[in-house]
Amino acid sequence: MGFNPGRPTSTGRIDIVSPDPAQPPRIQPNYLGTAADVAAVLAGARLIGRLQQTPALRGLTLGPLAVGSAALTDEALLADFRARSGTVYHPCGSCRRAPEGQGGVVDASLRVYGVHGLRVVDASVFPNITSANTQAPTVMLAWKVTELVLAGR
Ligand SMILES: Cc1cc2nc3c(=O)[nH]c(=O)nc-3n(C[C@H](O)[C@H](O)[C@H](O)COP(=O)(O)OP(=O)(O)OC[C@H]3O[C@@H](n4cnc5c(N)ncnc54)[C@H](O)[C@@H]3O)c2cc1C
Repeated sequence: MGFNPGRPTSTGRIDIVSPDPAQPPRIQPNYLGTAADVAAVLAGARLIGRLQQTPALRGLTLGPLAVGSAALTDEALLADFRARSGTVYHPCGSCRRAPEGQGGVVDASLRVYGVHGLRVVDASVFPNITSANTQAPTVMLAWKVTELVLAGR
């Protein structure tokens, strides 16, 4: 049993670490970096714990669970979550579409601030993460920007 917080509020960062473009950047996801995200994870884990205790699910499980979340403190639950959780491969927003003064990299037409003739058109320009899968929104974004380019905007 698992769950996904669909609207995380933590933001990470990506930094260029070398003038050599072959060197990978430093990526700091900063998962669970806000109190709201920690609260969402604890609430989700507590809900799973209650579901595990229901007669319906106890009738389906063969033995005790490896982690009985109902018995754990908030600190232990969070540590377990940090140890065993993973992403669902939806990184986005690393070149966010936003005003330049608010950390944006591209404008509303996805033009890169300060670089003439360059647009970024992929999941990296999402202003924030979608609450579901990212592939279809990426295709929709590409479609929309194709229309802008063809219209000369
Ligand atoms: C394992 C996995 C499972 C996923 N499952 C789902 C799912 O079920 N549903 C869903 O909606 N989304 C899913 N996603 C997320 C979805 O695939 C991505 O959000 C989406 O592909 C992002 O599109 P993009 O164009 O931003 O990046 P990408 O699809 O990564 O495209 C980037 C492209 O740029 C190319 N490229 C990179 N560097 C260069 C370069 N220097 N020069 C030229 N080309 C370059 C790459 O080869 C690649 O083709 C999954 C992702 C992963 C990794």
